[in-house]
Amino acid sequence: MAEFKVKSKIVSETNSKNLFQRPDGRGIKEMRETEAKVGVVPAADGSAMFRTGKTIAIAAVYGPKKMHPQHKQDPATGQIRCEYNMISFSVDERIRPGRNRRAMEISEITKWALEPSVMLDKYPSQVIDVHINIIQADAGTRCAGINAASLALAHAGVPMKDLVSSVSVGKLDKTLVVDLTKEEEDFEEGEGPTDIPISMTSSGKVTHMQLDGKIGVKQLQESVDLAKESCEEIYEIQKKALKDAVDMEAKK
Ligand code: ADP
Repeated sequence: MAEFKVKSKIVSETNSKNLFQRPDGRGIKEMRETEAKVGVVPAADGSAMFRTGKTIAIAAVYGPKKMHPQHKQDPATGQIRCEYNMISFSVDERIRPGRNRRAMEISEITKWALEPSVMLDKYPSQVIDVHINIIQADAGTRCAGINAASLALAHAGVPMKDLVSSVSVGKLDKTLVVDLTKEEEDFEEGEGPTDIPISMTSSGKVTHMQLDGKIGVKQLQESVDLAKESCEEIYEIQKKALKDAVDMEAKK
C-alpha cells in the first residue's frame, strides 16, 4: 500500500504550493529518471527503447510494406498497425500471455496518438507495423510505449511531421503530479487517484488524452500545461537518442 503523507505544513520551497509528498521524494513536476535509445532491435526497420523509472518499453517498426490482407488496403493512404503487449514477467505477478482487452485498447490508442504525426498519405495501400513490448511495468506503460514507438518510426526513416511525446499526469487527492508510479496510481486517500495520460507533438498539438478518475475543468487545463512541460523534456531526450545514433553511424 502506498504510504502517502498529506503534511500539515509546507514541505519544501519547490513544493511550496502543495501539501503533498511523493513516496519517492520527487517534486510534483519531476519525471522519473528517463532514458531513450534507438537501434535496439537490429532486425527491425526501426526500433527504440524508452525508460522512465522502472517502466521500460521496446518498440520495433516493420515497413512501410504492402498491406495484407489485401481487402484492408486503402488506396488513398497508408495505415499504422500497432500491437502493445505487456510481457509475462513485466510485473511481479506473472501476467497470462496473449492478447487481452487492455492490450487491445492500448494498441488502438497508441495508433491514434501516433497517426497525426506520420505522413501516411505517402504510402497508399501500405502498412507500417509497430510492435511495442513492455518488458518492465511500473505504470505509465502506454506513454512509454508511445514515446518508444514515435522514436522507432523516426529511426525507420518514416517521414513524420513531428515526434510524439507522452506522459501521464495524475491527480492524487487534490494535487497534480507528473509521471505516476504504480504505487501512486494505487493511492486511495481523499479524492483518490486520477490518471490522465497525454500525448502531444513538440509544437504542442495534443494527439491523445485519456482520463481515468474525476477532475474539474480548471485542473484539467493545468494537467495539459504540466504535460506540455514534461513532453518538452521528453522531446529533448528523444531528439538526443536519434542524434546519438546518427553520430555513432558516422563514426563507423
Ligand atoms: P499504464 O501502464 O499505461 O499506466 P494501466 O493504468 O492500465 O496502464 O496500468 C497501470 C499499471 O498497472 C501498469 O503499468 C502495471 O504496472 C500494472 N498492471 C497493469 N495490468 C496488470 C496486470 N495484468 N497484472 C499486473 N499488473 C498490471
